[in-house]
Amino acid sequence: MSWTNYHSHCHYCDGKYAPEEYVKSSLEKGLVAYGFSSHAPVPFDCVWTMKPESAHAYVAEIRELQQAYQRDIELYCGLEVDYIPGVTGPKSLPVLDLGLDYTIGSVHFVDAFPDGKRWEIDGSHQVFLDGLQQIFRGDIRQAVSRYFELTRQMIEQECPDVIGHIDKIKIQDEEGALFSQQAGWYRQELEQTLRLIADVGAIIEVNTRGIYKKKTSQTYPGKWALEKMKALGIPITINSDAHHPEEIILQFEDTAVLLASVGYKQVSVLLNGKWQQVNFDQTGLLHTVTS
Ligand SMILES: [Zn+2]
Ligand SMILES: [Zn+2]
Repeated sequence: MSWTNYHSHCHYCDGKYAPEEYVKSSLEKGLVAYGFSSHAPVPFDCVWTMKPESAHAYVAEIRELQQAYQRDIELYCGLEVDYIPGVTGPKSLPVLDLGLDYTIGSVHFVDAFPDGKRWEIDGSHQVFLDGLQQIFRGDIRQAVSRYFELTRQMIEQECPDVIGHIDKIKIQDEEGALFSQQAGWYRQELEQTLRLIADVGAIIEVNTRGIYKKKTSQTYPGKWALEKMKALGIPITINSDAHHPEEIILQFEDTAVLLASVGYKQVSVLLNGKWQQVNFDQTGLLHTVTS
C-alpha cells in the first residue's frame, strides 16, 4: 500500500506534534511522499496559524528532515496559505521568500465583522451565524457566493499549486437548514469556480478531514463536484489535512473507491520534485515513478 499526503499540520501551527512524528507515522503507513503544509502566518491575531517569527525555523526543520529521511520517503515543505485580498495569499512576498516546494491555497476568512474581526467560515457554528447576520444581513446566498467569489479571485490573482477544501463552507450546513447544496445558485457558484480552475490547470485536493472528524458526510469537494471535475479534466490529489500522526491516510481507501466511481483513474502526486499523474486504486498508488 502506498499513498501520498500533502496537506498536514504539525506543532508549528495547530497540529499536535513535532514534524518528525508525522514522518515516522508516514513510514509506518507506507507513504512514498509526505508534505508539510502548516497554516501560513497572518498579520493579525489567530490561534491556529504559524507565528510569523517561526516561519524560517519551520522551513529549516523540514529541510533537515528531508535530508535525514531521504532514503526512506520524499518529504516536501509547503504551506496552507489563506487568501485574504490585500492581506495575504499564496503569492505574497513573505510566502515566496520561503522557497517552498508547493502551496495549498485556502479560504477560511470571508470579509470581516463591523468591528474589523475577520469572519471564519469553518469555526464554530455560532460565529458563522453571527457573521452571517452582521456582515450579510442573514443572506446566506450572498455569504456563500462571496466565499466562492474569493476562491475565484485567489485563483485568478495568486493561484496556488493545490486548491484547498474547495467547498468547505458546506461544513456549516450538513442538515441543509441554511441552504441546499442542490440549489441551482449554489451549484452555479461551485461550477463557475471549477471551470476557472480547469482553465488555469491547478490541482484540486480531495480532502477527507470532514468525514473522519464527522463534520461532513462527503469529502471536500463532494460527489457532484467530482463528477463535474472529471468532465472538465481537472487533476486531483487525495489529502487528509492531518493534524495528528494517526490521521495521515484516514478515509483514503473509501475516497479512492468514490473517485474511481466517477471515472478518475489517476491522481496528481508530487514526486521527484514535480507534480505528475499516477494510477491508483483503493489500495493506493499503482506504480510510482522513480526517475
Ligand atoms: Zn484549511
Ligand atoms: Zn489544513
